[in-house]
Amino acid sequence: MKPQGIAVLGATGSIGVNTLDVVARHPDQYQIIALTAHRQIDRLFEQACRFHPLYVVVADAVSANALQGRLREQGLSTEVLHGAAALERVAALPEVDVVMAAIVGAAGLPSAMAAARAGKKILLANKESLVVAGRLFMEAVRQHGATLLPVDSEHSAIFQSLPHGYAGNLDASGISKIILTASGGPFRQHSAEALLHVTPEDACRHPNWVMGRKISVDSASLMNKGLEVIEAHWLFSAPPERIDVVVHPQSVIHSMVQYRDGSVMAQLGSPDMRTPIACALAWPERIEAGVAALDFFSMGSLTFEQPDFDRFPCLGLAFASLQSGGDAPAVLNAANEVAVAAFLEGRLRFVDIARLVEATLERVSLAPSHSLEALLARDEEARCFATQWVGSC
Ligand code: NAD
Ligand code: MG
Repeated sequence: MKPQGIAVLGATGSIGVNTLDVVARHPDQYQIIALTAHRQIDRLFEQACRFHPLYVVVADAVSANALQGRLREQGLSTEVLHGAAALERVAALPEVDVVMAAIVGAAGLPSAMAAARAGKKILLANKESLVVAGRLFMEAVRQHGATLLPVDSEHSAIFQSLPHGYAGNLDASGISKIILTASGGPFRQHSAEALLHVTPEDACRHPNWVMGRKISVDSASLMNKGLEVIEAHWLFSAPPERIDVVVHPQSVIHSMVQYRDGSVMAQLGSPDMRTPIACALAWPERIEAGVAALDFFSMGSLTFEQPDFDRFPCLGLAFASLQSGGDAPAVLNAANEVAVAAFLEGRLRFVDIARLVEATLERVSLAPSHSLEALLARDEEARCFATQWVGSC
């Protein structure tokens, strides 16, 4: 059979690298058509030398020219494109069957949307697409016959624990709750006082997962779980009151579905993103992902706790923004992106991330936008407010 053509958007990131690791194990089944990166040009160059894509995309013309020269020297005919429009272009190429959407932040939304509008099979790591534009994104998937498969480990677990062919109606499938597990992050046991002094390095030292810096900070603040609640809402048509969060520090159970009759279906595995990536890539088949089998006898006990909404207010803010609807989740996400970047640059304390998000939600209009352009304008408005807030604190 002809190999499936793949575009990896965000190829140089944590998810991108793991995706290429899985793809490299199955050269007969998958062919890399396009790879994209923002700034890590050397890593992209190495990836291009290894996978020989038809296209690579970088942020700007200067890096594109330099990279084009280096690839030619290697005898490669890969064409180097640049800029945001090129991301959308490669996501919709006719040679591309599968798009791995693994850019971080709302910057990944237009290209993920382009993949949806082109009717592609979308492996969605970029949860921010659904947080910012859940309704429009799901409509585009339906209208254009795209296939949407979750890569986020929790949503992959839920997807695998739902009845086969689940059609988006919890009641009709006998489901009472979606249960998202959360590791609790590196500050799970920190006091409110200790949280005042944590550094970006502390926040990026996740106990179980190795991830990009933005999602690592989100995991530490529990905003990541909040974004995942919103993501689950759109993926599985679940209202917020039917989504529970359970802290499970070992990250062995990746999430669960609770049924009306008392059954709870869970998916377990080592905390290794190659499992959900391989699951989405090959679905409904199963392929080798290079992941070690779970060792039940060395695992120790599995424990569960309530999340602490007082020490981690971002989780409550995300639930509240989903409940209020309209553009609230988009505003929440934009403010969080500005706050996390400022925290990583040492311009904001960790505890101020939630304060900034809350202030932005109070000050920016949350009225619903009905087009991608209007949503992106709202995103920009929220970023402007949040940037000024950082400047004044
Ligand atoms: P990362 O920071 O490691 O990588 C991000 C990628 O996006 C890089 O290739 C970078 O070059 C590219 N990028 C960054 N800004 C860009 C921009 N403005 N335009 C175009 N490209 C840009 O991030 P990651 O940890 O791989 O996460 C990627 C996405 O997957 C995020 O949405 C994250 O929430 C989600 N996710 C990640 C994990 C994980 O384990 N890392 C798990 C679940 C979900
Ligand atoms: Mg996750």
